[in-house]
Amino acid sequence: MQLHSTQNPQALVGLEQALFQGMPEDNGLYMPLEIPRLPKEFWKDIDQMSFSEMAFRVGQALLGTSVDPSALQQMVEEAFNFDVPLVSLSPSIYTLELYHGPTLAFKDFGARFMARLMSYFLKDRTEKPCILVATSGDTGSAVAHGFYKVPGIDVVILYPSGKVSHIQEQQLTTMGHNITALEVEGTFDDCQKLVKKAFLDTQLRNKRRLTSANSINIARLIPQSFYYFWMYAKLKAQCDSLVCSVPSGNFGNIMGGLIAKRMGLPVSKFIAANNDNRAFYDYLSTQNFQPRPSIATISNAMDVGDPSNFVRIMDLYQGDFQALTRDVVAYTFNDYQTELAIKEVLKRYHYLMEPHGAVAYLALTEYMKALGKDSVGVFLGTAHPVKFLDVVEPLINQKVEIPSRLKTALNSSKKAHPMPNDYTHFRDYLLKP
Ligand SMILES: *Cc1c(COP(=O)(O)O)cnc(C)c1O
Repeated sequence: MQLHSTQNPQALVGLEQALFQGMPEDNGLYMPLEIPRLPKEFWKDIDQMSFSEMAFRVGQALLGTSVDPSALQQMVEEAFNFDVPLVSLSPSIYTLELYHGPTLAFKDFGARFMARLMSYFLKDRTEKPCILVATSGDTGSAVAHGFYKVPGIDVVILYPSGKVSHIQEQQLTTMGHNITALEVEGTFDDCQKLVKKAFLDTQLRNKRRLTSANSINIARLIPQSFYYFWMYAKLKAQCDSLVCSVPSGNFGNIMGGLIAKRMGLPVSKFIAANNDNRAFYDYLSTQNFQPRPSIATISNAMDVGDPSNFVRIMDLYQGDFQALTRDVVAYTFNDYQTELAIKEVLKRYHYLMEPHGAVAYLALTEYMKALGKDSVGVFLGTAHPVKFLDVVEPLINQKVEIPSRLKTALNSSKKAHPMPNDYTHFRDYLLKP
């Protein structure tokens, strides 16, 4: 597999370099040089495949000879060892629940695959890298769980003391093994500053082999294309084509879908569902992309004013606005509409959504109003409702049951190192034998 920078189509790198470097030096993002179309046989058998078999076939087409087939097979089996159910709300509306991984959010797909890919490339090296992550809650736990017990890699998470929810703190601090949590006396910004400073500290960086697990890494994007094939496989018998609504913030999830479409996936339309952070919606209406400061909403993982994957979408469509609008539409909904939808869907379909999935549900039903009776639509469920208890429980006036895998974290004891907001302390901690 070869990749180029969105800033410079001529500068090519291999998968290993893109993986460990994260971002090209020219500040662009890495994109696959070629997105192959999948062969006829693949589509014929797709409804017979297990998730890992399908992920293997799609992964192999994208990664080419960069990864040994038997290693890739093992990687996808280990990374995607959880269910990905497609649930029917009605004969025309489905949801793909992407939140049955260990941290109950779809980011597990990206984080678990990237961790195993890194471990694969490191197997012949003697150094032991250290992944540094600053987190305000969710990203840290997806990365930590992704790398949990992955041989040869240490993870150090920095989180702001007293500023993450109890559930999040338990998820971050109870893992042990190769995962260390530092409870920083400061804010999320302070955590981020400590991490940035460490990456600029050449001596430390070389000594500890510091690596980032940033969300713009191409290795997190690739596995986010796999589940779109799975969605299609489950519905293949019912429909010729379908539409798919994706709750979007940084547009990494929908980017996986657009890559799948380029590989031949028969999704007639992707719906980018936005909350009040509507830079992309406005772009599709005006052809003018205007990043803005983010606005706080109840679907807070989508509170992004300047979506990082926008440049990847531009690259994929080569700036052809017509082609882009043939494939993608966008909608925007506010918190009030989102809350109403959660209540209504519970009443009407006995299905509990959380705020992100609810925005996608709203966008899907809005778009489908204009479609024929036998059309089929899927909205992606990106997080378990239990992750947004504060919003969901008061709305529906009932308790949400906590899944057993979360109970384990809730009942384990917290193991966090207190860390003052001071670079010298942090540096000494990382260097101590
Ligand atoms: C990250 C996240 C999103 C947004 O995904 P992008 O790839 O940034 O568009 C949506 N929902 C949840 C629950 C998330 O954690």
